[in-house]
Amino acid sequence: MHRTTLGDFELTVVSDGTYFLDAGAFFGVVPKTMWSKKVTPDDQNRLDAGLNSLLVRTGKKNILIETGIGNKLPDRLVQIFRQPAQLLDNLHAAGVAPEDIDIVINTHLHFDHCGWNTVRRGDRVVATFPNAKYYVQQQEWEHGRLQLERDAISYMSPNYDPLLETGQMVLLNGDVELFPGVSVKVFPGHTANMQAVIVESGGKKACYISDLIPTSAHLDLTWVMAFDLFPLETIESRKKYYAQAIPERWLTVFTHDDQTPWGYVERADRSRLTLKPL
Ligand SMILES: [Zn+2]
Repeated sequence: MHRTTLGDFELTVVSDGTYFLDAGAFFGVVPKTMWSKKVTPDDQNRLDAGLNSLLVRTGKKNILIETGIGNKLPDRLVQIFRQPAQLLDNLHAAGVAPEDIDIVINTHLHFDHCGWNTVRRGDRVVATFPNAKYYVQQQEWEHGRLQLERDAISYMSPNYDPLLETGQMVLLNGDVELFPGVSVKVFPGHTANMQAVIVESGGKKACYISDLIPTSAHLDLTWVMAFDLFPLETIESRKKYYAQAIPERWLTVFTHDDQTPWGYVERADRSRLTLKPL
């Protein structure tokens, strides 16, 4: 288990397991001859991608950032992606029950980031974390509702609409500090309103950067996923992130890296970006 302390907070990476992603889509316009030096796909060109959530225990609140794929995926998508459904077991191993979670933050509403928000109970869909308030950006939710040709497959309303109906999910408008030491910041690129989560305690900062930098193999400004709706904005958002995170030594948490879930991004010779694992 990956666990560390940040000032007064305790941070634990809790995984929902790994799923398949097409390696070509994962690295966008980067040629295979380049990305295959960093990762090795299977005979169908698939990679094991991580589904890392971050548990933040502040002493007052238990905060869960992101909820993986969950256990409600339709069969045809299970065939493509798999459905490991390990998050609750790994939370249990970290000493936390679903009832103990006070806050859930979704960086965006793609199915691989908010699947465990809800579970089926009989013919109803209910909150997995019954005592939690859930937070996401309002415009991210509005985009999902449009069900556009390009990305309708990623937005499954049972992952969030039942929570809006009960008032458990709160829609945010822009950057905000949710609690002392826990704030969200919108970084456009992957979607227009994807938010990162910045955690600060004792003068130290960590950032769950989500799909802006999905793995430690995506540090380079131009190694942008084909899934991103606004690749030029991804590059600009990464520049903004590095301008703060590198000099201030933020601990960066990677959502889809199954090997190296976190580390410190550093600028090496000729401004090449490298990762110093935690
Ligand atoms: Zn996504």
